[in-house]
Amino acid sequence: MEDGISLITLVELAQSMDVELKSETLFEGERVLYDNVTSSAFDSWDLEKLEISFIRQMRALKNSLHARNIMHPSLDHASDQFIKRNGLSGFDARVAEYIIRDRYCDTFYGGPSNLTSFDHFWSESSFFGENFFVKKGFNQLTEKLAENLDIRLSTPVKGVSYSNSYGVRISTVDSGVFKARKAIITVPLGVLKSNGLTFDPPLPEEKQEAIDRLRMGSLEKVIAVFPKKVWGGEILFLSEQNTQGYFPAIYDITDLTGKPSIIAWHGGYGSTINLQMTDEEIIESLQDQMSLALGQNVPRPTSFFVTRWQENQYIRGSYSYIPTGSNPEDMDLLKAPVDNILYFAGEATNKHYYGTTHSAMISGADAALELINADSPRKSRTFETLFHRIQTWWIYESIQNALET
Ligand SMILES: Cc1cc2nc3c(=O)[nH]c(=O)nc-3n(C[C@H](O)[C@H](O)[C@H](O)COP(=O)(O)OP(=O)(O)OC[C@H]3O[C@@H](n4cnc5c(N)ncnc54)[C@H](O)[C@@H]3O)c2cc1C
Repeated sequence: MEDGISLITLVELAQSMDVELKSETLFEGERVLYDNVTSSAFDSWDLEKLEISFIRQMRALKNSLHARNIMHPSLDHASDQFIKRNGLSGFDARVAEYIIRDRYCDTFYGGPSNLTSFDHFWSESSFFGENFFVKKGFNQLTEKLAENLDIRLSTPVKGVSYSNSYGVRISTVDSGVFKARKAIITVPLGVLKSNGLTFDPPLPEEKQEAIDRLRMGSLEKVIAVFPKKVWGGEILFLSEQNTQGYFPAIYDITDLTGKPSIIAWHGGYGSTINLQMTDEEIIESLQDQMSLALGQNVPRPTSFFVTRWQENQYIRGSYSYIPTGSNPEDMDLLKAPVDNILYFAGEATNKHYYGTTHSAMISGADAALELINADSPRKSRTFETLFHRIQTWWIYESIQNALET
């Protein structure tokens, strides 16, 4: 069933809806690399050669860590072991730490490097093909999917009670109680972890333990528009990890926005300490860092936006990652239906594509299918209506095939 559904990509969905896409260009253009410890620029190849070397040695590094009885190694363990195994020191050791901790971990998985599992690092799948920006925002897709459906926004749920006798009762903060036979819960893992909504009876122990073990990563963004463009493409900055005001990677998005603009990524623990600053202080740090790397005074942005997803009670992070001591099967436990009444979807419930929008979409279709199939092997009218609206024959056909087999 899942194989059929995983054939769809969001690109195809967006194209079927005439939503404007733009080829991703984040990693194009001139790259500036700056080492804050020696206050000097360095060459891209200094980083790339160590990056290639790390990727080549990953299996050997895991084996050597396990042989040292480190059974659940983190990315910090991986970094230390890589440095040791290759006799790196000084600048090379700093570059290695930057690649493994700052780039791969903080600004990719979003988990602190001392907690992110090295065993499950890069174990997820990804789709082949080009990456795209959704030019005017993802909400175009969700708005089109939601056309003519009864979707209530700004209606926070505070509790879910369920029983074989009455089905589900969803209590909202200020819009009363909704009743249904069954429900699909799609709140982020961060909300489940923080008991942002209560379950009565409590979720099964096995599921709750999986929720406790899995973790929500934090990847935050600063988007800033400047009076003029004084950079080329990427700015990669090496500094002490977990220093306040440090942005490991800055990318040019001028082509996307049509204005001289950048997007700075910061994640993991680094983003948590950065967000202790005010937006103004964050922008000042970013400006200082860009000035250092570019060797000239970077003007103050004319406008900017700082995300604070980890502080948002309805998100509590960015997306899930697998920490040491957890494994992808915890995502299966998170996904498992409860009493054929509650079903679960969202990026963290798909162990193949977690952390992505694809995961969110596939897991939603999957949970809907599971819910329908639990009652009857025939496809339901509501489901069919929804997917007619999507008008993506890829999805429709694969779901039909799944239902017919
Ligand atoms: C910086 C960053 C970069 C990313 N880059 C990419 C990328 O390049 N490619 C990619 O595919 N993915 C990317 N992602 C990941 C992708 O955005 C997420 O995996 C995806 O949006 C998760 O979808 P979801 O539906 O599971 O969760 P969400 O989109 O978080 O939706 C959950 C919804 O539940 C609602 N909610 C929470 N609590 C309650 C409550 N109590 N009552 C009612 N509603 C509630 C929330 O308001 C929210 O609307 C990125 C994410 C970040 C943060």
